[in-house]
Amino acid sequence: MIDFHTHTPAWETATWLGGTPFGADEFVGFMDSAGIERAVVLSHDGLFDPTPESNDRLSEFVRAYPDRMIGFGTVAVRRKTAVAEAERMVGELGLRGLKLHPWLQGFSMHERSLDPICEVITSVGGVLLSHDGTPPYSTAGQIAALARRHPKLRVVLGHGGLHDLWREALVMTQETENLYLCICGTPPYAARHILQEAPPHKVIFGTDAGLSDKASQDYAVARVKEIDGWGITDAQRHAMLVDNPQRLLEPA
Ligand SMILES: [Zn+2]
Repeated sequence: MIDFHTHTPAWETATWLGGTPFGADEFVGFMDSAGIERAVVLSHDGLFDPTPESNDRLSEFVRAYPDRMIGFGTVAVRRKTAVAEAERMVGELGLRGLKLHPWLQGFSMHERSLDPICEVITSVGGVLLSHDGTPPYSTAGQIAALARRHPKLRVVLGHGGLHDLWREALVMTQETENLYLCICGTPPYAARHILQEAPPHKVIFGTDAGLSDKASQDYAVARVKEIDGWGITDAQRHAMLVDNPQRLLEPA
């Protein structure tokens, strides 16, 4: 399976999200134990402090296992250097997508400074994965509006609406051609509805592994096991865990 939402440890920030400083070897050990063949790895420090250094460290982390880990970097969208950093990240650093966290990074998806950044990601056939599910700045409707301004950019709702906004996440995914939905931290009853009603090629899965106080990532293992209780078909499972994420990781 491909886990489309994991994080590096926190090297520079101290937050409520924890982040034991595990190494790449340890992380791949966790992936093996949970049956995860490949993982999209997002920054942890960059959620709070989106600096070029956070992209450097992320790139270094995933480069240890290039066939197992795919890095998505981040940028401070209001900085004048943001477009150049987006170019550096997908060029020199070899990162394959952009992660944004409008809530923690403090901006709105409607801000026009996002447009040239999105154009960079589109030009390399990359993916934009956004945190979602927490108003005011991270609703599926706001993220869908950005996706509609950039119809060639593939945009992923990183959390399938979480607890409060999964219905909106589902509707926006149904109605926005280039919007995809990652079930990650979405409650199980919502995951079941999403899988019954969303276009089957648009649903992917993530554990959020890495935001943990234990290198063993126990809660992420529990999220993988949870899938067994969703009552889905083998075809749905294969699409969500293999075919759909694989397609998104191939350049568009
Ligand atoms: Zn996350």
